Amino acid sequence: MASTILIIEDEAEIADTLRYAVDSEGMQSIWASQGRLGLAAIEEHEVDLVILDVGLPDCNGFELLKKIRLSNDLPVMMLTARSDEVDKVVGLEIGADDYVTKPFSPREVVARIKAILKRSQNGSQVQVNGFELNETARKIKYRHTPLALTRSEYILLTTLIARPGQIFSRRQLIEHIWSDQHPSDDRIIDTHVKAVRAKLHKIDPACMPIVTHRGFGYALELD
Ligand code: CA
Repeated sequence: MASTILIIEDEAEIADTLRYAVDSEGMQSIWASQGRLGLAAIEEHEVDLVILDVGLPDCNGFELLKKIRLSNDLPVMMLTARSDEVDKVVGLEIGADDYVTKPFSPREVVARIKAILKRSQNGSQVQVNGFELNETARKIKYRHTPLALTRSEYILLTTLIARPGQIFSRRQLIEHIWSDQHPSDDRIIDTHVKAVRAKLHKIDPACMPIVTHRGFGYALELD
């Protein structure tokens, strides 16, 4: 699905340049010429990224960014006429994801938009009990350390991370890991759990987030 880019900018000529650059890259642009219209557009549309001009007729872009941040963490790229380092610092402190100074190259802006979107999509991570799961990259970190997992171990751990506290029987875990040709011996799961636990233990010997429930199965301990 095409990403939707909201451009909040009062100068029509600049907005047009940006819209052209965005649209010709297969993304969809929406234009709001005032801050309040921009806020309304965020409510109305599924916006993926905002390009926000600092100098708007009805409000200051920084104030608007603060308002957006109250309810939303979607990526925001600030746009300013001044090449002022102070502005840049203020913008980034309030929570802007990037900063572009006018005059800008539309190609550069688009390249940066793509980079931010990629970052934010990759950033859709599940974080629970010391684990960071990045399903796009199929990677799991434990206490900020990347885990080297086999395919089976990865699926096993992902299954547990998806529902912390829920007890999975060995049979359920087998069905998650092997979509067909299920191994007949349930104890194969114990081997995989043991291997994963060894990898976790190496990173943090003091904790063990995978709990055995005798007679039932395994669960990821709640935070
Ligand atoms: Ca302006």
